[in-house]
Amino acid sequence: MLMRYVKLGRTDLTVSEFGFGCIPIIRLSKDDAVKVLRHAFERGITFFDTANAYRDSEEKIGVAFAGMRDNVVLASKTLQRREEEAMGHLENSLRMLKTDYLDVYQLHQVAQEEDWHEVSGPAGALEAVMKAKAAGKVRYVGVTSHSLQMALKMVRSGLFDTVQFPFNLIEEGANVELLGATREAVLGFISMKPFAGGAIDNAEVAFKYLRNHSGVIPIPGFQSIDQVDEIVSIYSRPNIIDEQDIAMMENYRSELGKIFCRRCEYCQPCPQGVMITPAMGYPTVARRMSPPIAVEFCRKAMESVPLCTECGTCIERCPYELKIPEILKANYALYEKHLKEKQD
Ligand code: SF4
Ligand code: SF4
Repeated sequence: MLMRYVKLGRTDLTVSEFGFGCIPIIRLSKDDAVKVLRHAFERGITFFDTANAYRDSEEKIGVAFAGMRDNVVLASKTLQRREEEAMGHLENSLRMLKTDYLDVYQLHQVAQEEDWHEVSGPAGALEAVMKAKAAGKVRYVGVTSHSLQMALKMVRSGLFDTVQFPFNLIEEGANVELLGATREAVLGFISMKPFAGGAIDNAEVAFKYLRNHSGVIPIPGFQSIDQVDEIVSIYSRPNIIDEQDIAMMENYRSELGKIFCRRCEYCQPCPQGVMITPAMGYPTVARRMSPPIAVEFCRKAMESVPLCTECGTCIERCPYELKIPEILKANYALYEKHLKEKQD
């Protein structure tokens, strides 16, 4: 198949029509990660999205593409909210990725008003990124979020070149308004979580849905050569959605609708201090990063779960009426199991 390439919004970056989300390579050895990354490149994928938070993902990408930097488009991100710390993260990303510039640098998971005030205020992370841009260390500035309202606000701020937001056949919140605002502002729309964090197990149906929306650049995660080949093969076929596909999409929506956390954070804050959203996502993180890494990565959030008094406040706030305390309990049991397996 000949990969198709598209412009990333108003930037002058040209990227493959789907990219590579680099969380799953965390669980691979360095050699295996390099093999999968290089194979993806050989099959035509040129866009790689990582983050300071994704452990050794940046280092593995740096090894995979050493000496061929200009052939790939690299995006990374920082969770830091303050200028100095964000600059530290950026310098570290450059070192790990063995490069002196990033094509896109994103403020990671700006989901609450307080986050936005902090990153965009005096000595906030945005200042670091803008200074890095002026110094040529960053070509374009992006933002990522799980909150529709915040994403809309940031897209409309005129400060960003790209926005990264969850979008898949279950999480359709971005459809219409956010996609419309993104197209209007000519921003690149990077669609994270095409499989809804592993909840959708039919790749063909997942991508039929996404390919039906123009201007969306999905970044599936890959942890094997076969997975890369599967998605490349899907993209090589014309995108035809038949009645069976529509029925399957509806089935996913009805089955997962009442159990699937969209990470929108409307349920927070919890009066007891339970870190609801990251704790709700524990099974997904364990699936993507592996249980031994997930127990460390999510420790703080999971250790807050026993504080839950089942008061029900979060359920009232959740637009999807998820049975949050019940799900948290099940996730905590899984976390304890993984913790025990790690200690044994
Ligand atoms: S539990 Fe509900 S409100 Fe909270 S993040 Fe998940 S989907 Fe959003
Ligand atoms: S039910 Fe538990 S998690 Fe939800 S708001 Fe109450 S204490 Fe917090």
